[in-house]
Amino acid sequence: MTETDVERHELALEHAFTIARGTRTTVDVVTVELESEGTTGVGAAAPAAHYGETVSTVEAVLPTLLDTVRDAPSLHDRQRIRRGMDATVRDNPAAKAAVDVALFDWAARRADLPLYRYLGLDPRESLTTSYTVGIDDPDVMREKTHEAVERGYPVLKVKLGTTRHEEILETVRSAAPDATLRVDANEAWSPREAVRKIEAIEPYDVEFVEQPVPAEDPEGLGFVREHSPLPIAADESCVTPDDVPAVAGRADIVNLKLMKCGGVGPALEAIHAARAHGLKVMLGCMVESNASLAAACHLAPLLDYADLDGSLLLAEDPYEGVPLPAGEIALSDLGRPGSGARPAE
Ligand code: MG
Repeated sequence: MTETDVERHELALEHAFTIARGTRTTVDVVTVELESEGTTGVGAAAPAAHYGETVSTVEAVLPTLLDTVRDAPSLHDRQRIRRGMDATVRDNPAAKAAVDVALFDWAARRADLPLYRYLGLDPRESLTTSYTVGIDDPDVMREKTHEAVERGYPVLKVKLGTTRHEEILETVRSAAPDATLRVDANEAWSPREAVRKIEAIEPYDVEFVEQPVPAEDPEGLGFVREHSPLPIAADESCVTPDDVPAVAGRADIVNLKLMKCGGVGPALEAIHAARAHGLKVMLGCMVESNASLAAACHLAPLLDYADLDGSLLLAEDPYEGVPLPAGEIALSDLGRPGSGARPAE
């Protein structure tokens, strides 16, 4: 017998968060708990309107997805459950990720192992996550950057996509002279514009540029990669494992997310597909709670880059997860089984 519980949470952000597509101050997530054989697993959906999901669509499809879970003989039957979910509900990756993450958390807790150990991954290979600085007035960006440096975050991801790319880089670089800087344009540029702007920001010592052009323009992405002096990462251009082959040759790095591909299982497939195509791998996230983010942190040993700061951007997270001291994904310090997601004290 599997008991299920679904709950919507509105989470306040620490700072209003602006990217090329817009600004927000709160984020809505839907948590899922699965209880069977005396063990509970936790997951959550952090739906993105950009990919056609909202909390309402998540709540609309979850009853059907959870029927599949209840029909399975055991919560260990992840392959069967995933096939069942895909057969009854098309797309809706964040809703499926909530279930998938809860299943992985449950299975690792049943085995009394932290999720990374359940997956056979080496915690010594873990990484440091980047911390995102959203678009704002220069004074506010300077202040946010100083704050990030004070908290010890050594890797900053800077949102671009306005005409102020040079001013933003100048501001952030002068406030964080020693930080590793990555930038994300969130599809805001045309291919030629992107090459010009990347040339303009290159002197600020930028590690790579994420999603310079719209996802609908794969040739444009390839054009930018060919002419860019900096490596290119594909985020919106690479949503599911099926998208990986088309990105190969047009980007250097793929930014995968549990909420785009449908959870830990599909993310593992996407990571292996990306490796097979010679791509470097970053795992990113939405602004999300540790109810889902904690599980993503356990995949850090498989990555080249981690952008798992979703919980760090919240004013308060109802769940605690993997410790992230100064951005370090401290898997070895977790000290409890499963993803480590548990209600905050
Ligand atoms: Mg991105």
